[in-house]
Amino acid sequence: MYKVFLRKKIAPRVANGHPWIFANEVEKTEGNPEAGAVVSVFAHDYKFIGQGYFNPRSQILVRLLSRKKNDTINEQWFLEKIKECWDYRCKIGYTENCRLVFGEADGLPQLIIDKFNDYFVIQTLALGMDVWKPALVKALETIFSPKGIYERNDVPVRELEGLPQQKGFLSAPFDTQIVINENGLRFHVDLENGQKTGYFLDQQDNRRAIQHIAKGADVLGAFTYTGTFEIHAAYYGARSVLGLDISASAVAQANRNAELNGLADRCRFEAANAFDVLKQWGKDGRQYDVVMLDPPAFTKSRETIQKAITGYKEINLRGMKLVKPGGFLVTSSCTNLVNPELFLEIISLAAKDARRRIRQVHFQTQSPDHPIIWGQENTQYLKFLIVQVQ
Ligand code: SAH
Repeated sequence: MYKVFLRKKIAPRVANGHPWIFANEVEKTEGNPEAGAVVSVFAHDYKFIGQGYFNPRSQILVRLLSRKKNDTINEQWFLEKIKECWDYRCKIGYTENCRLVFGEADGLPQLIIDKFNDYFVIQTLALGMDVWKPALVKALETIFSPKGIYERNDVPVRELEGLPQQKGFLSAPFDTQIVINENGLRFHVDLENGQKTGYFLDQQDNRRAIQHIAKGADVLGAFTYTGTFEIHAAYYGARSVLGLDISASAVAQANRNAELNGLADRCRFEAANAFDVLKQWGKDGRQYDVVMLDPPAFTKSRETIQKAITGYKEINLRGMKLVKPGGFLVTSSCTNLVNPELFLEIISLAAKDARRRIRQVHFQTQSPDHPIIWGQENTQYLKFLIVQVQ
């Protein structure tokens, strides 16, 4: 049996339930475990803490899978865990499309599984999880009899674990262009070449939050990706909708999605750099009833957090200037390291610089199929804010 013993003087994070054990918190390792192996973790006084997977290449030496001594981490264990994840989504009412497994928040560190009706997309972002891919596929087959399973491990973070970036079928090949339903609308999703796992499920509830403000409005959406917020706006009765994205393929998919829903007459999409265009349109004096912003994460590391703050302030300032007095700014941030308080502070600074008064209408987070674990900050990452701009 492989054993890892923790130092005496370490932060109480692990004792308080956090699953990560950093290399500098470890006193000694016994049994010479190979990378990816399951190890038992003990406190300095030999008290059992849990079992987890080991990777000496990673700064996070162990990620805990279980706090139980008698658990055997095997194929059956993964099947039970995936069943638990599904049971939770069924209980909270997220079944057709949902994040079935949200990594650490589901006790399965570095595993993401998105369910798009009968199709599943998997990301195994650490070696100790990657080695269980066959067990995960088997579990999905047992529980769901899926029409298809696809691997989207084309993610740079895998390289920190010594893993290659790769993508491909984990089931018999199938057509990776699928259609999903959301809030009464239909969307093309490209599981193979779309961003991340193909679709941003975390905003599914937030898209409904624009229902009333979109009515009769002229709407501008930037960072539209495949047009989901914008198509919702048109569906909810907007007079005109323009969506912008820097990616030509996203714009093409967005236009197809508008057509799929019979909304192409009121809803169009163009390829543009939002930072440049919003600045110019501000100078031109263009005005909208609703401006929506949903930029990608601006940083993943603490060293460049200032860059993210500057980016959010800049884009929100430019967005706000385009809102008619009494109109609305709908703004999101998915940067993990920008916590909710900091995000609101940035928006407040942007309002000050834009010389506009704002009042909060909604402040929400990701949908609950992406559960939040208190004490694990990185599980609450999405900020979604609607403000009225005077
Ligand atoms: N709102 C979308 C998700 C947006 S993801 C949804 O709910 O599905 C962020 C998008 O911003 C990506 O599609 C990316 O191509 C786009 N993007 C990144 N930089 C940009 C820029 N400077 N200007 C416009 N779009 C940009």
